[in-house]
Order: sequence, then structure tokens, then C-alpha cells
Amino acid sequence: MLPLDFTDSMRQQLGAEADDLFRSLQAEPSCSIRLNDKIDVLTFDCDTDEVPWHIDGYYLSERPQFTLDPLFHAGCYYVQEASSMFIEQALEQYVQPESVVLDLCAAPGGKSTLISQYLGEQGLLLANEVVRQRVFILSENIQKWGNGNTIVTHNAPSEFGEKCRNLFDCILVDAPCSGEGMFRKDMQAREEWSLKQVQLCAERQRSILMDVWDALKPGGVLIYSTCTFNRQENEQNVQWLCECLGADILPLDYDPSWGIQEGHGGIGYHFYPHLTRGEGFYVCCLRKHQEDFAPFRVKAPKKPTPAPLHPEYIQEMQKWLQHPERWAIRLTDRFATAYPAKYKELIDYLYTFLTCISCGFGLGEERGKGIAPQHSLSMLKDLKREAFHAVPLNHEQALSYLRTEALSLENVPLGMLLLTYEGVPLGFAKNVGNRQNNLYPNEWRIRHL
Ligand code: SAM
Repeated sequence: MLPLDFTDSMRQQLGAEADDLFRSLQAEPSCSIRLNDKIDVLTFDCDTDEVPWHIDGYYLSERPQFTLDPLFHAGCYYVQEASSMFIEQALEQYVQPESVVLDLCAAPGGKSTLISQYLGEQGLLLANEVVRQRVFILSENIQKWGNGNTIVTHNAPSEFGEKCRNLFDCILVDAPCSGEGMFRKDMQAREEWSLKQVQLCAERQRSILMDVWDALKPGGVLIYSTCTFNRQENEQNVQWLCECLGADILPLDYDPSWGIQEGHGGIGYHFYPHLTRGEGFYVCCLRKHQEDFAPFRVKAPKKPTPAPLHPEYIQEMQKWLQHPERWAIRLTDRFATAYPAKYKELIDYLYTFLTCISCGFGLGEERGKGIAPQHSLSMLKDLKREAFHAVPLNHEQALSYLRTEALSLENVPLGMLLLTYEGVPLGFAKNVGNRQNNLYPNEWRIRHL
């Protein structure tokens, strides 16, 4: 049952069409995935259909058990609701790939992995999540995606507003909301919904926008999105933002056959599930008013940057990369992390005041008298595969590896092994002679099959 106050308010918003919306909210949700450019093709045991607004998006005619697919764990695709993939259109139309982007409310990482792929080698993404329990899954998904162009942080929106004044070319605020657009997927969203909650969400969204606003460069682009239908959390908040904070709405081009509806008063765009193939979604793109401003300046870090690793270790680790010149390396504790050299100064500075959960990718780790690769290197698109002996696994072996079970591989050389499934790296193992150590991260292992 849909909440009565919800059906009443939707009738006011949509008129007679509201009944079509209610019917669509009782139907099965569609299942869709977005492919990672780390693989060329992917086949599923069901029919697929293209998501029209994202070149890598596909609808699946049924929902496979993704946990049983090793390629899912290798970050070859992200299971993402189709409407959300429309963020790609906003990026293509208003954001240069060579941009510094903040995804403020990023967990679990659907839109962050999309932005990371869009920016590729040219840009830098800060994927932030304020809720502690959610930040680790965000970091895992980012590492599996494998671009190495993303810093995962755990900070409050106000910390960006205060300390990163005028830094970002683009900020995505995919705001926590009342979740009306998720009603057919998420029964809890239905149960928790109330008019009071809508009002509280709208207030919280305004406070998030106000807190982060100073971090956006004048002339920069804000993408505001929610997965809810009501006007308080959508059009009214955008209008408030334009009037109180100073921004102009940017129109987005789209094909009319996609069924996207312009928002009330031409403010933003709605995805209603009775008209568009996907869940409920709202998006609006805005440009911050241009004015004279003091550009964000990188200050010399107060704390000295950590001492570099032993030069021999650095040389050894650089052999694991296709383009070592693209990466700066830093040592924290006994771990070597690599991140885009192009943004080294900025990242070193951000490191001094943001709570960084992961930065770029884990490259190596000092172990005994040597250096061993870290798991996230195996996920990296810039990994030089020839640097390791590759061992192809079958489906059963791959799942066993992903459950961190003991391995029994035959005829493999001593030392570090790169385990692959259908040609895609899954992670490392080490053959120490009498056994092979499974090096898959324990915290990422498959727990239930
Ligand atoms: N962008 C994500 C994606 O595509 O996977 C989904 C984000 S979800 C709609 C909203 C996120 O905002 C949640 O991860 C939630 O923990 C976070 N959040 C909750 N309260 C917040 C607050 N006060 N400030 C910033 N983020 C908040």
C-alpha cells in the first residue's frame, strides 16, 4: 500500500496521470547495469537492452545472482538503477573531463564510478560520504572500478565549504531524500515516508547545499539530484538555491522518446517510472554566478609529506604499471599509495585536512625484506599484467578464491601470481612452495552464497 498522504499529494502534482504512476510503483523494478571500460564485452544469460542515455548502460530482462559472478567482484560492471545514469548527460553537456569534481553524498558509489570513468586520466574526483558505516563500501567500489583518479573522504559538507573554498569545477549533490522514487524497490522507504519527513528532508538538503556552496568555483556547475518526486525536495529547493545562493539553471538536451518530464516552472527534470524505464529520479544542473573570486590556492602542507620509500622499492613498483610517469607515490606506514601525479600538490594539501579513507590506489606494501603488490593494484586499469605470472581460474576456483578459501593450484611458479577469470584480474595469490597464500582482502570476501 502506498501512503495515503503520498497519493493525495501526487494527485495534486500530476492530476489524473497520478494513477499511472501508482500502477507503475506496484510493478517489478527493472534491473540495469553499467559496464566498466576495463572490459570490452560482457554476456549475460538473459536478454539485454540498451539504456538510451548512457552508452555503457544495459537493462537485463531478469536479475541474475550477481554474487555468483566473479566479474561483478572484479568491478567489470556496476548494478545501477538506469535513471541515475542520466548524470552522464549532465557531465557531457557541462563538465570538461579535465575537472576537479566533488561527489558530496557518494556512497555506495554508483554515480562516483560513473564520474570516475567520465574523468578518466584527465580529471580528479573526490568521492565523499559523511556516514561512517557507508564509506568503506564506497572505497571498495571505487578501487574495483580501477581508474586510480579518485580520493575517498569521510567529511561533513561544511568542511568542504570552509576549507576548499572555490576549489571544485563541479559538485554533485545526490541528496539524501524521502525516496519516493524507490517505493517499488524499497519497502522501508514506503514505511518511513510521511509529509513531516518530506519537510525534514527538504530542510536537510538546503543545509547541505548551503554548507558546501563555497567550495564550488564561481562559474562552476552544481548537479543536484534526488530519487523523489515531490516539489519541496526538488523544484522548491532549486529555486531557493538560485535566489539565495546565486545560480542559474542550465537546460539539458535529451531525446523526447526517453519520456523525461520537465520540472514545474521548467526547473530540472523528472524521471517518472510510468513514463521512463527506470526508477523515480530528479536532476537539475546549475551554474554558480560568475564573480571576481580568489582562486583556491594550494598551501604548503604544515606537516611534512611522508618520507618516500626506499628507491629500489619504488623502481620495482613502477614496473607494475603501464604508465609509471602518471602516478605519484606516497608512503603511509608501510603502505605505498599511488595517485595522479598531475594533481600531486593538490592531493598532498587536501590530505592535511580531509579524512582520506583511500587515495588513488594501493600500490605496494613492505613485507619482510621486500615489497608486495596491494590488492587494489590488481583492479587498476593501468596495471602492467606482464609483470606478474597470470593464472586463469575456472568459475568454481574463482568463487573459492573470492571466499578467501585455501587454494590448490597446480603447476604454478613460486612467487606472486595474478589470478584471472575470463581474462580479467581478480587479485593476487602467493605460491610459497608447499601452499599458495590467498591474498584476497578479507573484508571484501564473499560471505554468503
Ligand atoms: N550517490 C550515491 C550513489 O549514486 O550510489 C547515493 C547517495 S544517497 C542518495 C545519499 C547519501 O547521502 C547517503 O550515502 C547518505 O549516507 C548520505 N547522507 C546522509 N545524510 C547526509 C548529510 N547530512 N550530509 C551529506 N550526506 C548525507
